Amino acid sequence: MSWRKSSNLAWLRDLPGVREGEPLGTRTSFGIGGPAEFFMEAANPQSIELALEGCRLRGIPYLLLGAGTNLLIADAGIEGLVVRVVNRDYEVEGTRIRAAAGLKMMRLARIAADANLRGFEFAIGVPGTVGGAVYQNAGCWGKELREVLVEARGFQPGADRRTWSAQDLAFGYRTSALRAGPLRGSLVIDATIKLERGDGEESKRLMTRLTNERSQTQPIKTKNCGSVFMNPSGDSAGRLIQAAGLKGARQGAAVISQLHGNFIVNEGGAKAADVSALIDRARSEVMRRFGIELEREVELVGKW
Ligand SMILES: Cc1cc2nc3c(=O)[nH]c(=O)nc-3n(C[C@H](O)[C@H](O)[C@H](O)COP(=O)(O)OP(=O)(O)OC[C@H]3O[C@@H](n4cnc5c(N)ncnc54)[C@H](O)[C@@H]3O)c2cc1C
Repeated sequence: MSWRKSSNLAWLRDLPGVREGEPLGTRTSFGIGGPAEFFMEAANPQSIELALEGCRLRGIPYLLLGAGTNLLIADAGIEGLVVRVVNRDYEVEGTRIRAAAGLKMMRLARIAADANLRGFEFAIGVPGTVGGAVYQNAGCWGKELREVLVEARGFQPGADRRTWSAQDLAFGYRTSALRAGPLRGSLVIDATIKLERGDGEESKRLMTRLTNERSQTQPIKTKNCGSVFMNPSGDSAGRLIQAAGLKGARQGAAVISQLHGNFIVNEGGAKAADVSALIDRARSEVMRRFGIELEREVELVGKW
């Protein structure tokens, strides 16, 4: 039976600050995506927990949204409730920082440098939030969140456990128990990282250098979602896509970047269906030419 009973719709309409039919395109780095059937934004973890628990009890589908930098949202939008997590508090204590899920990784990298802590400079390359980064063990320049994460606090609808160790989170290359394991559907509330004492000015110089280098090789100022595919073991997805002759391949206003084969750029007005068609084309062409199966890093969500 569909979850769309009048009592469920009435419950959704009563959620604090909820909006119906909220466009999501402006809430993703791709600039693409249809509307959320119901949408709320919350900084207070308790109100998010109540909403998620209510959805679970009523069988209403939901999606947590961070900065929308790793999502391709369907043109037809998302059914059920979308909750945008915007708590951005943080607390520095010695060499540890506890950061709320809605804080941007780039901001946290600067906070760490300001506190003369080193080991988090890599996060300057991750435009998403702490919550999204825990979800998929974000990483850059050979470093990953799991190397510095001590624990994360969260909420799993229907369960009591509140604190997850790095082991509970079962991190892998761009994945965790939240993305592909027993914690699916759980909310990350905050994460604690442990760094080393360092020189903030040195960290800032390193971050500037890394950002400059990156802007030479990746179209980071365009509308995109970062890497479309994970790198297959021992190779790079960008190299394979380039070798398949697909740089510059186009579908509508979506194009495989000339600068980096693993980026798809929305030149303005691209549809999710255009991007998805390019993803399928890159996958099948790389498989046909090299026998290598590319796995998506970007997540497709919504009504496809
Ligand atoms: C230009 C560019 C460069 C990038 N470079 C990198 C890079 O170098 N390395 C890298 O790893 N990634 C990179 N990315 C991808 C992206 O920034 C990361 O995947 C990031 O971790 C996604 O975070 P987000 O807040 O945007 O999550 P979203 O895209 O909003 O969501 C992604 C997933 O995380 C889940 N999620 C979000 N918040 C929470 C929460 N609080 N609790 C539970 N689940 C949650 C969502 O439900 C969704 O399933 C890049 C993206 C862009 C646009």
